[in-house]
Amino acid sequence: MTPLSIDAERLLGRLRDLGRIGRDGGGRLVRLAASDADRAGRDALVAWIRGAGLEVAVDRIGNVFGIWRTADHRDRAPVMIGSHIDTVIDAGILDGCYGVLAGLEVIETLKAAGSIPARPIAVAAFTNEEGVRYAPDMMGSLVHAGGLPVEEALASLGTDGTVLGAELERIGYAGSEEPGFLTPHAYLELHIEQGPVLEREGVSVGAVETLQGISWQRVTIEGEANHAGTTPMAMRRDAGHAAACVVTFLRDRARRANAPTVATVGCMSFEPNAINVIPSRAVFTVDLRDPDEQRLRAEEAALAGYLTELAAAEEVTIAVERLARFEPVTFDRRMVALIEAAARDRGLSVKRMTSGAGHDAQMIARIAPAAMIFVPSIGGISHNPREHTPDADLVAGATVLLDVVARLAAQ
Ligand SMILES: [Zn+2]
Repeated sequence: MTPLSIDAERLLGRLRDLGRIGRDGGGRLVRLAASDADRAGRDALVAWIRGAGLEVAVDRIGNVFGIWRTADHRDRAPVMIGSHIDTVIDAGILDGCYGVLAGLEVIETLKAAGSIPARPIAVAAFTNEEGVRYAPDMMGSLVHAGGLPVEEALASLGTDGTVLGAELERIGYAGSEEPGFLTPHAYLELHIEQGPVLEREGVSVGAVETLQGISWQRVTIEGEANHAGTTPMAMRRDAGHAAACVVTFLRDRARRANAPTVATVGCMSFEPNAINVIPSRAVFTVDLRDPDEQRLRAEEAALAGYLTELAAAEEVTIAVERLARFEPVTFDRRMVALIEAAARDRGLSVKRMTSGAGHDAQMIARIAPAAMIFVPSIGGISHNPREHTPDADLVAGATVLLDVVARLAAQ
């Protein structure tokens, strides 16, 4: 039997079409969750889903599903392919949209080929993955997986003062299905890597086996403001210097470790923030990530130990507040192996890897076997209009998705 091919032009054309929706006055792509631009994007998606002859379902958190049910297997758990179509501010056209549109493309290809799967196949577009307008991010998939009550999510207050539930009503996407109404037999997410590894190594496909755990903390250091000219160096309680020590500690430790640990201080502010005053106060964030939970805990403990020593040595007080914590995710081993085998069967180079970013797949992995497929991101750039993946790689990723879905749906 000749292997099936997706309709590359249809997929690439839809990616471009969706990428034109939600441009602001300056031409930037801004399709924030539950905004007018999001409505326009959702409307386009729903029209394509209907055009493909699929059933459309929308749940109370606004997740959109296109479901292909075959006569004999209507009520079996579906193979689900998902991602998101909301974007960040000034986004590229691929993040999320690629996974959703490729999912639709896979279903249309199987349908047109006359294949009769042994279970339904569904494509899902989850609400507010990016978390730019409403917190938390990955919200729709988290609610779908039962990790956040829908009422709580709908009450989320936006950065612009709006309430998510009211905005979903306004744009016509407050659906009637109870979140979680569709529990997948298996879940797949195809996504651009958003990092440099595949491009650098010249590999076409990533079989994602783990997703890093994330630890976010805010550290506040209190010292004493004093005159920059008259206070001898040995007599200072310099919160700014102590903060700088933490930055250096984290960087040196992560670089020395023979591990994929990454550590970032991305935000910092000083008080009084003046050229001639020793800082009395420094507030900064720490972002620690690691695919191994024990190592991530060890890194958190090492930072805590260092802060205690530092407080004593520098005569400052240090307070730590936890902002977010997600454990690493290990994807389904059998599905990762299927992705690898499918890529090899198509003559594509493939490597097992870790996702550095968060994705809807990590939420759905709580309720179903899940895995992700990555394709290269040129320059590792994402959340940026320069986000790019060559067409051949986009088609290759969708083809691997097609083969894996076909196999899973045959069971
Ligand atoms: Zn994404």
